[in-house]
Amino acid sequence: MDGRALAERIRGEVAADVAALGRVGLATVLVGDDPASDLYIRRKHEASREVGIEARDHRLPAETSQQELLRFVDELNHDDAVDGLLVQLPLPPQIDEAVVIRAVEPVKDVDGLHPVNAGQLYLGRAGHVGATPLGVMALLGEYRVPLEGARAVVVGRSDIVGKPVALLLLAANATVTVCHSRTVELGARTREADVLVVAAGRAGLVAREDVRDGAVVVDVGMNRTPDGLRGDVDPAVSERAALMTPVPGGVGPMTIALLLQNAVRAARYRRGLLAYPGG
Ligand code: NAD
Repeated sequence: MDGRALAERIRGEVAADVAALGRVGLATVLVGDDPASDLYIRRKHEASREVGIEARDHRLPAETSQQELLRFVDELNHDDAVDGLLVQLPLPPQIDEAVVIRAVEPVKDVDGLHPVNAGQLYLGRAGHVGATPLGVMALLGEYRVPLEGARAVVVGRSDIVGKPVALLLLAANATVTVCHSRTVELGARTREADVLVVAAGRAGLVAREDVRDGAVVVDVGMNRTPDGLRGDVDPAVSERAALMTPVPGGVGPMTIALLLQNAVRAARYRRGLLAYPGG
């Protein structure tokens, strides 16, 4: 499954949407100078510029207090030029991430992490959903992977990837199993999957023998190893799988494209062009 090609098409659609809307504003906040976060933020801004989104790159020092960050988030909540707002995680240890996530205005929460958005997804009436889970679903949709009644197995239960992917698969009428670090006999579970989504952050966790012939495999993992960027799934799995995403070039580019689409959705919600389910 070619994430680069689909992401490029989506970015083209987003550019047309932005032009039609007149302007779309996205603000990002990075606290500290974690190199991986810096790279993600720069990619998000490059992609935003390309599609005409007005993106503001706010940087705060690593020693910023929770109260200072909350005050800053509140300013952006009240700034009419900001449609989408995201605070890059992880945050430094003196800041409670859950408190900051709750402080973001739900209608601007393009990462879909605010309890209102997470709750609406749980209730099957999604508002904002994170870009990575949406990217996984967009790939499955693009390749017309049947989900209704399918046995879907998700490895990973993070709030950012595993849980929202599981809820989206459930909403698409798949029969969903969620596996995690305490799952016993992981291979036995993954072998049951018609559709396997792996987001564990462990290079090569899923081996050739852990997947059945003809399964569809989405590898969300991005692991920096001495041999370069590696997914959570051994590339040899592609010999058995009907469809599989490569790393890089699979879910990664989709995440950026769907974030841009989420910014457009935030602008539509805020202008009353689309009903916001969390309002
Ligand atoms: P996380 O560390 O928050 O969660 C990992 C999950 O995997 C946990 O629920 C844990 O229980 C489970 N897990 C860990 N080891 C396991 C094992 N041996 N067996 C079974 N389950 C295990 O990570 P995350 O934020 O969900 O990210 C997961 C991976 O996806 C990482 O490699 C991350 O870099 C990548 N990621 C990629 C994108 C993208 O755009 N492609 C976006 C977000 C995350």
